[in-house]
Amino acid sequence: MLDSFGRQINYLRFSVTDRCDLRCRYCMPKDTVFYDKKDMLSLENLKKLSSSLIKIGIKKIRITGGEPLVRKDLLKFINHLYNYKRKNILNEITLTTNGTLLEKYANELFKNGIERINVSIDSLIPQKYSFITNGGKLEKVLNGLDLIKKLGMKVKINVVLIKNFNEDEIISITNWAGINNFDLSFIEIMPLGEIEYSRKEQYYPVSVAKDKIKNSLGLIKSSYKTNGPSEYYKTNKYNAVVGFISPISNHFCESCNRIRITSNGILYSCLGHEDSVDLKPFLGKTNSFELLKKIKESIIK
Ligand code: SAM
Ligand code: SF4
Repeated sequence: MLDSFGRQINYLRFSVTDRCDLRCRYCMPKDTVFYDKKDMLSLENLKKLSSSLIKIGIKKIRITGGEPLVRKDLLKFINHLYNYKRKNILNEITLTTNGTLLEKYANELFKNGIERINVSIDSLIPQKYSFITNGGKLEKVLNGLDLIKKLGMKVKINVVLIKNFNEDEIISITNWAGINNFDLSFIEIMPLGEIEYSRKEQYYPVSVAKDKIKNSLGLIKSSYKTNGPSEYYKTNKYNAVVGFISPISNHFCESCNRIRITSNGILYSCLGHEDSVDLKPFLGKTNSFELLKKIKESIIK
């Protein structure tokens, strides 16, 4: 399906919950107010909405949150998507997670068609990890990673660059990811939502990280492409790729093919803009025609 800018829309980022078991300092204040449970999409509505989006041409679905793995019925939803993947109607189901619950769910995720997972880790030093996540245990995440590696799933590590926090780990994280054959993305901090800290003080440009890696390990542009906004490179040492996402210093609208839906049923036809439509009123209807019509209108408009 083409939108009004001629972009082929085939990738959906679907948030299944706004809840999380961590409180990363750049993402979620400790006193975050969550959506009312009654406003969140039920399992039935997650299924209904995803089926409609697959009908209009969505081929890849990235499940995210909050933390998607804290949602108790997540595996049932993934199994619903897997039925489409098995029939080759859907090409890929992926997950972005903080990894704290991977040990518990890795096997089931694998059995339900998840072949690639993005795991967010901003420091490999347990005390620093605990600080930035407000109490997270790095060991749990690393154990989960071991398991998904053994299962043969492809891993990408997401690292948000934070000034005066993890710039001294850029090379060690790149080496660690390379040794484990994990792809890696360094991400610039984005001004999303209200937090207790100044984002300006946290901002560290990915261009500086790129220079550091280039000087230390060499960097060659890679032809590797995902549906995301990362530019990918290879070091002289490892097979895994290293990407740099700079939403602040770079524009990537022309190459974007994504829409997103929040866990309370709001569809955003652009990742960066606030243009949105509430799909909840159309989910209660028995006839899915109106829901499809509304989705198409909101993407094409
Ligand atoms: N809880 C999961 C996780 O942490 O991977 C999925 C949701 S989280 C919002 C998705 C990604 O967004 C993570 O890699 C996280 O580090 C990143 N993120 C969160 N807030 C950000 C911000 N203000 N700027 C840049 N990236 C951010
Ligand atoms: Fe939770 Fe992910 Fe936000 Fe950290 S980045 S608080 S893990 S949603």
